[in-house]
Formats: sequence, structure tokens, C-alpha cells
Amino acid sequence: MTSNPLALITSYLRDDGPIVVENPANGEVVGRIASHDADQVSAIIDKADTARIAWAKLTAKERAKLMRAWHDLVMANADDLARIMTLESGKPLAESKGEVTYGAGYIEWFAEEGKRAYGETIPGFSPKSRIVTILQPVGTCAAITPWNFPLAMITRKVAPALAAGCSMVVKPAEATPLTALALEALAQQAGIPEDLFRIVPTKTSSAVGNLFCSHPKVRKLSFTGSTKVGQILMAQAAQQITRLSLELGGNAPFIVFDDADLDAAVEGVIASKYRNAGQTCVCANRLLVQDSIHDAFVEKLKARIGTLKMGDGMAEGVNLGPLIDAKEAARVADVVKETIGAGGKLVVGGEEANGAFYAPTVITGVTQDMEIAREEIFGPVAPVIRFTDEAEAIRIANDTIYGLAAYFYSRDIGRIWRVMEGLEYGMVAINEGILSSEVAPFGGVKQSGMGREGSRHGLSEYMELKYGLMGGI
Ligand code: NAD
Repeated sequence: MTSNPLALITSYLRDDGPIVVENPANGEVVGRIASHDADQVSAIIDKADTARIAWAKLTAKERAKLMRAWHDLVMANADDLARIMTLESGKPLAESKGEVTYGAGYIEWFAEEGKRAYGETIPGFSPKSRIVTILQPVGTCAAITPWNFPLAMITRKVAPALAAGCSMVVKPAEATPLTALALEALAQQAGIPEDLFRIVPTKTSSAVGNLFCSHPKVRKLSFTGSTKVGQILMAQAAQQITRLSLELGGNAPFIVFDDADLDAAVEGVIASKYRNAGQTCVCANRLLVQDSIHDAFVEKLKARIGTLKMGDGMAEGVNLGPLIDAKEAARVADVVKETIGAGGKLVVGGEEANGAFYAPTVITGVTQDMEIAREEIFGPVAPVIRFTDEAEAIRIANDTIYGLAAYFYSRDIGRIWRVMEGLEYGMVAINEGILSSEVAPFGGVKQSGMGREGSRHGLSEYMELKYGLMGGI
């Protein structure tokens, strides 16, 4: 750890840089950097497309060696990376440290998995021929990432791309480009060719997004962000049938059945709802609580929320930071007011926003037709919906355009299978509040997107399957 965490990225800082990164906890300027226009990004894509040729010719083991060195440098600089992340995103330092370890895990895991990009032999359709399949890198890839996980959303894409033999150009979120640049600097220190993995912060996201979808050398775009922007990119990708992975918004139900361990369920809500101040795509968005345990559960949750400490993420003991900016906090305050106006009952919180800060809030008496139950809240607010039986819980849970993560608490093995199978979601966590890991396939159904990140499925997103027919045998 250095006394100045920004030492990792001093070469990128510009006194007059047009991208101004601010600390959401106090509004101070963290740093200013240059913005790439579409022409500059186009030239970077051309270079990435040249760099990938030699990279793809290396053995998977040679690629893994450089990726491993990158992973080790990320871990060696974990404290500085975490401090940069907290400065620009506001998340509590302990969460930032957790994200560095989690994000680095993708680099380590995919470096190894690249060695197992196996093809297959298939019994042929004639005695004189044989069939094989091989997996080959997609080519030059592009990515667009959000601000809520400034490091991990990048490694989730770059690690499988590099392991597969692709190059990658990443446009980070405008609010959090510094962590991204630190990742690039460490990759270069590790010996990963400079043109192979580039970060291109920009103030003109839509122009760069359109370029990613129209540049003839970009073969794949991986996007994590809102469903609205995902729709724009999907339409643009039609121009040249660019391969797409879309990790979009969610509206996760968190169901507490009457046979649940209530204390464990409360801890699950704290992890799933209040982590990152409620700004994750897999955040519990609606708490569905069964009638008979509703009041007991809400009481326990209220008591636990009283132990949360809100403040500057750099301060000791803080486990709830600010939202990404004051505008977002004001938006969340409006959502709460609207819900109370529609008949919701405030249990705790519900105050006005204070700068970018918003107090943890619980509202009961919510119904599935209220706006708060239909759209991502993206803030530390938990609406509670009552239900009477399993069928009703599944019906309410599935009544959404989204299908990313779902959670439920139960100790009945039959119910566990029935409900897991009944939920129309890409991921279901049972008796757990956090589910993302590099070893498991992360992704959604319906308007939450397409494609998976993590696990062997995450590698195949960056590989083309080729079928070879050999005749004359
Ligand atoms: P956002 O869609 O506004 O922005 C995401 C990224 O897209 C940013 O880099 C932004 O600059 C860029 N962008 C915005 N408009 C663009 C355009 N027209 N063309 C190209 N790029 C454009 O989302 P956000 O507010 O940064 O992030 C929050 C959203 O991300 C939430 O909806 C959340 O659920 C989602 N998210 C999803 C996952 C997942 O894995 N499914 C993970 C994290 C966040």
C-alpha cells in the first residue's frame, strides 16, 4: 500500500482532463483524465485487432502465465485499488477490498480454464468421413461496463476474452474510470501486450457504443448496464450482426417462507439488499414474506438495520456508503415518497436524501402493482409484499419483465426444488444472500439479458465453434 493510492495511475491524470471524477461522499475531485473520441477509439481497435493475432498463437499455458502475473499484481496492489474504488464510487472500503479479491478471481480462474477449451470428435454420418469440432477465439472484442462494480465488471469480461485468445477494448463508466485505468496499468506491468487490452474512458459513450457495434473489426460486444441501454446496443449490433452478451437490470424477489430460519433470512437481506447501498443488479428488489411470519420478520429486520453504520466509505466501521451521486439519492427519495403515497407503510428510514446519502429504509404494505415493485430501486430501500402460499409467491416473483437473480429462504427440501424450478430467473440462491462467483454462470433471462459470465460457460462466450468434416478416409 502506498500513501497515495493514485500513484498507480499518475500517468493518466491531467490537470485539465475533461473527465472529472468526484468522490460521492464529499464531492471532492478525485482526479481528472482525458476523454477518447470515436476516432481515437477506432485507432485503438485497429491496434487491438493486430495484437490479437500473435496472442492467439501463444499456447493457453503461455497466456495463462501472463494472466497469472496480472492477477498477482492486482492482489499485491489490492489496498490501493480498493482505496481508488472507494474514492470514486463511495462504497465502503471493506466492500471495495472484497471486490478486488472477487474480481481478481476471474483472472486466475479463466487463465486456467483457457487450457481446457476442448473440441470434440463426433461419430460421422458416413464410413469415409470423420467429424471434429474446434474452439477458436472470437477475435477483437469490446466491452461497456457500469459504475457499481468498477473492477469486477471488467475482469468478468476481459479475463475470459484474453484466456480465449481475444483482444479487448473496454469503455468504463464515466463515474468510475480510475479503477479501470489502474487495472490496465497493472496488466501492462504484468507483460500483457499493451494493445491487447485497452481502457478507453470517454465523455461520448453513445458515439463509442455505436462505434463498437459498427467497426468491422469488432466481433463481439459484452455490455453490463441498464436494460434501456442494452436495447439501444442490441439494435445497433444488428448493423453487422455483432455477437452480444448483455448483463442487464434485475428485479430480484427475496422470498421468506414460513419454515425459514428468520435470523438467517435477515442476514441474507442485509447482504443482498444493503450491500453497495442497494446498487447491484442482483440486489433483493422486493421482499416477499409469508403472512404467518411477516410481523416477526419485519421486527427482526428493523432491529438489524439499526446496527448499520452509514458514512464515508473510507471511515472505519462504515458499512453503508453514499449512492453514486446526489441525483440518484434524490431519485430514491422520490420512489419512497411515491410508495408511501400509494399506501406503503414506513417501518424505518424514509428520510430526505442528504447529498448522495440515503438512509436504509423498509416499507411494508407494498403490492406488486406499485411502481417500486416493478422497476429496479437501485438504493437501500426494501419494499415488503405479503403472500399466503407457495403458488402466490411464485406468481408474484415471476410477474416482472426481468429475470436475473432470485432468492428464497426455506428448510423444506420439497419446496426448495419446486420453487427453484418455478422461478423464471437465470440464478436462484436458496438460504444465501450473495451468489456471484467466478466458478458459477452469472446471467439472466427475459429482459435481464443474454449470455453468461463465469464458469466454463463464460469462456464459451468468447469462442467460436467450428465444425470440421474430413472425407476420403
Ligand atoms: P447504464 O446502462 O446507464 O450505463 C452502463 C454503461 O453504459 C456505462 O458505461 C455508460 O456510460 C454506458 N452507456 C450509457 N448510454 C450508452 C449508450 N447510448 N451507448 C453506449 N454506452 C452507453 O447503467 P448504470 O447506471 O451505469 O448501471 C446500473 C445498471 O447496470 C443497472 O440497471 C444494473 O442492474 C445494471 N447492472 C447489471 C449487471 C449484470 O450483471 N446483469 C451488473 C451490474 C449492473
